[in-house]
Amino acid sequence: MTDGTLAERLMAGDKRALARAITLVESDDPAGWDLVREIYPHTGKAAIVGLTGAPGSGKSTLIGALTKLRREAERDVAVLSIDPSSPFTHGALLGDRIRLTEHFLDPGVFIRSMANRGALGGLSEAALQAALLMDAAGKDDVFLETVGVGQAEVDIIDHADTIVLVLMPGSGDSIQALKAGIMEIPDVIAINKMDNPAAKTMLNEVRSILALDRSRDWNPPIVLTEAVRGEHVPELWEKVSEHRAFLEQSGQLEERRRANLAREVFAVAASRAGRHLEQAVADDAELLRLLAEVQARELDPLTAVREILEKVFRIDDGDDGGTRAS
Ligand code: GDP
Repeated sequence: MTDGTLAERLMAGDKRALARAITLVESDDPAGWDLVREIYPHTGKAAIVGLTGAPGSGKSTLIGALTKLRREAERDVAVLSIDPSSPFTHGALLGDRIRLTEHFLDPGVFIRSMANRGALGGLSEAALQAALLMDAAGKDDVFLETVGVGQAEVDIIDHADTIVLVLMPGSGDSIQALKAGIMEIPDVIAINKMDNPAAKTMLNEVRSILALDRSRDWNPPIVLTEAVRGEHVPELWEKVSEHRAFLEQSGQLEERRRANLAREVFAVAASRAGRHLEQAVADDAELLRLLAEVQARELDPLTAVREILEKVFRIDDGDDGGTRAS
C-alpha cells in the first residue's frame, strides 16, 4: 500500500483508493462522509456527462466508444453505471459490459457500477458522492449512466452537467416519456442503432416532439449513432462539447451546478429527517400511541402530525401556518 491518507492517495489518482472511497460512501460509512468533506474543495473540475435511456439502447456501448475517444485525447475517464431497479451491485451489472472490458486495464479509466442494494443511504446520494470522489481523483470526464427513464433515474442524472438521452429505434417508452413531459428535454439526443432501418422514422418523431417547444435557449441536437462501430461517436462528443461551451458562456454551468447542489442538500436532509422521524416514532411509546389513536379514529391525523413534529423536531406548526423552532 502507498503511504498517505485515503484522501491523499485518492487525490493522487490511486485507483484502489478511489474504489475504497466509493465503497465507504456507498455503505453510508461515516468515514466516507469525512472523506468527501476533505476532498470537496478539490471538486468541480470534471465534466460530468449523464447518459440515460431504456435498457438495451446502447448506453454502455456508447460509453465504451466515448471513453476510447476521450482516452485518445489523453483525458482521464471515470464511468459510473447506476441501475436503480436492480438489487445487484458490482459484478452483475458489469458482467455484460463487454464494450468496457477493453478499458478495464487502462490506468486512465475507472469503472464502477452501483445498484440499490449497495447504496444504504440512498442511491442518488451515493451517486453524487461517488461522482465527487471521481472528480477529486483527477478524472477529467465522468460518464454517469442510468438505466430507464423514471424519477429515480432523473434524480441521479441531475448531477450531470450535460444529459444525453440514448434512444434506439422502437424504444417507445422513452418517446412517450418525452412527449408526456415525464422526462425533461435532454441536452443532446443520440438515436443509436442507426443501422436499423427504423432509425429515420424515429429521427422524425423526435424532431416533431422538439418542435412543439421552441422557447428553449438551447435546442437539443439529435445525433444518429452506431455505437458498436463507433460511427458518429465523434459527432456526438462534439455536440456534448458544444453544449458545455454554451453552458459556460451563458453562465448556466455555474447556475445548473448550484441548483443541483442545493437540491441535493435538501434531498439528503429530507431523507435523513424522514429516517430519523421513523426511528423516533418507533422508539417512543407515546408517539406510537398517537398513531394508534389515529387508526382507531380517536384522533385526527393532522393533530397527530403536529404533536409528532413538535416532539421529534420541536417544530411548532401552529395556526399561523408558519413553522418555527421553539
Ligand atoms: P445498454 O443497456 O443501453 O447499456 O445497451 P448496450 O450497450 O448493452 O447494448 C445493447 C445491445 O445493443 C448490445 O448487444 C449491443 O451490441 C447492441 N448495440 C449497441 N449499439 C448498437 C448499434 O449501434 N447497432 C446495433 N445494431 N447494435 C447495437
